[in-house]
Amino acid sequence: MLAAYPSYKRGDFAILGHQECWEHIYPFIHQIRGQDLKPIPEEEIKYLFPYFPPRSLFRIIVRSILESRKITGHYIETFLPPDHLELTCSKENLRRITDAAICADKLQVPVATLGGFTSIILEGQQALLPTGLQTKFTTGNTLTAAFIVQSLQDACELLQKDISRSHVMIIGATGDIGSACAGFFSEKAAKLTLVARNRRKLYELSTRLQSPTVHVADSVDEKAAEADIIIAVASTTKLQLPEVKPGALIVDAGFPKNIDATNLDLNRIHLYFGGMGYVKGGYHFSPDYKQSMYHFPADKIAHGCVLEAAVLAFENISESFSQGRGNITIEKMNQIREWARMHGIIPAPFYNHQGLWAIQKKVYD
Ligand code: NDP
Repeated sequence: MLAAYPSYKRGDFAILGHQECWEHIYPFIHQIRGQDLKPIPEEEIKYLFPYFPPRSLFRIIVRSILESRKITGHYIETFLPPDHLELTCSKENLRRITDAAICADKLQVPVATLGGFTSIILEGQQALLPTGLQTKFTTGNTLTAAFIVQSLQDACELLQKDISRSHVMIIGATGDIGSACAGFFSEKAAKLTLVARNRRKLYELSTRLQSPTVHVADSVDEKAAEADIIIAVASTTKLQLPEVKPGALIVDAGFPKNIDATNLDLNRIHLYFGGMGYVKGGYHFSPDYKQSMYHFPADKIAHGCVLEAAVLAFENISESFSQGRGNITIEKMNQIREWARMHGIIPAPFYNHQGLWAIQKKVYD
């Protein structure tokens, strides 16, 4: 039913990816089957989807601004059903990610990113990957975190918000990306509230941060109305935000999105989707599945985690740069952000589900 994209020369990098929701999957399946074929009914796709074996579906071509260098990556679809994403311990999810990892290794890619929930599902279980794989796996979270903190500082500058006088709330603060953001903002914000469900981990993190400005909360409801800036980096979806402060700046870096934005009044708050990058030199798919794959309001936008593998490939680095929870340091964030910048890869323009913000930094073509 679905043809695998023909195998070609080894790629420079790969991404192990998954789809965000069924509404995106139906057109995606239709496009990869060939648009001249009669569409398969949605119910049938929903039934068949979990049976598709992981495979490379298309190539990603990334161009650097340095000597117009070009690299090619493989997009390896795991076919994780979107409503099974949070079943992090499911054997079936693990099996799919393992099969996708073997697929990356067969394609001889030196480095592959564990995109979106694939790294969360594999967290602490990397030992389950077969031994002897030559491909190195990175979560892509260091560049993602670097983009989040950089874009937030840029947004504050645009909106004339002073971080040192702001109350910053991080939802998903004890996670890999969340704790990196917490480390970054603990010395910059007037007050930092860390939110996650597990109180013990919250207290461990706040003790580690050793800052009098740091507080903890085990639900968003507790402090959301007081926060000037909210960073959402939790491994969850459809979060309902209670009343938030007028003028608050909210960055949702989840994949799929953490926050249910349908009831947010965008005339009163500033919302953008973070952790995303912009590739000045060019970012293309072959065949061009962008129309059904990602829904970005501008060209050259890609996820920070994908771009981490691309940056490592440009730098000829085959290593697990981001290894899993708790290993992101500010030094590593600065390092990968600097490599990215040299290749013309910078934080994406500000956008949300309604499109691009009317005001932007003046660095985009
Ligand atoms: P982790 O699994 O390391 O951390 C998840 C965090 O979310 C933990 O602190 C967890 O703590 C918290 N959490 C989970 N559910 C809830 C909830 N209902 N309410 C509050 N907190 C919650 O995840 P990562 O840091 O690896 O990834 C975070 C997000 O970023 C994911 O959505 C991921 O897909 C996305 N991502 C985006 C990328 C991009 O390119 N933009 C790249 C990589 C990841 P607890 O369980 O105690 O609640």
